[in-house]
Amino acid sequence: MSSNGYIPERALFIYAHPDDIEFSVAGTAAKWASLGCEVTYVVITDGNAGSHEDGMTQEKLAAIRRAEQQAAASTAGARQCVFLGYDDGMLQPTLALRKELVREIRRYQPNVVVCGDPTFYYSETYVNHPDHRAAAVAALEAVFPAAEMPLAFPDLAAAGFGPHKTNYVYISHAHDADTYIDTSEYIDVKIAALRQHKSQLGDWDPTERIKSWSANTGKKVGFAYAESFRRITLKPIVTESEAKETGK
Ligand SMILES: [Zn+2]
Repeated sequence: MSSNGYIPERALFIYAHPDDIEFSVAGTAAKWASLGCEVTYVVITDGNAGSHEDGMTQEKLAAIRRAEQQAAASTAGARQCVFLGYDDGMLQPTLALRKELVREIRRYQPNVVVCGDPTFYYSETYVNHPDHRAAAVAALEAVFPAAEMPLAFPDLAAAGFGPHKTNYVYISHAHDADTYIDTSEYIDVKIAALRQHKSQLGDWDPTERIKSWSANTGKKVGFAYAESFRRITLKPIVTESEAKETGK
């Protein structure tokens, strides 16, 4: 278990819906961005089924939710937000989706890919949403090994998206979390980012919910507020001081 202070140079957050990042990992995104990381969001669906409003259409809702997500990304300090335009509620971890994610990983060349948990259940009271699971499976299948294989999707390489090896994968909401990020100074930014999703929140103020989730996570490692991850090392970054200690 580590309370990890590593700040990547570039990080790519890959999630299914507008608002997934804000509910789960926007504290980490805001922290990394404010400490100099180039943060990019990839939002796979347009969340275009999430409305009960009369007269709403999928097209209208997609436009609203993209604008809200863009505002939320800017609030957290993300450099860009990429929308892949898939339909809400229908997501599958297809080869076509894997290829699009490989393209974005190769385009932005992150040290860290952050994504959700690909399992069916990670709590005693929740079955993972099919879109969340599909997004996580597709992200993990894109980051390893396809993104780093020169002969995977050769037309991508021909179009200028050559292979890229990501250093670390951070899986949020994992039941076997081993990495905790102290987000105490960024809890207000996280809440402000979430509040950009006005079409979803209505009059509900998410402050207490977000603070209580983040405090419960922080309690495990002695932070006021935290977000937790399972961290997978694909290609370790050896810092200068570590290299001196180990003689590498
Ligand atoms: Zn979601």
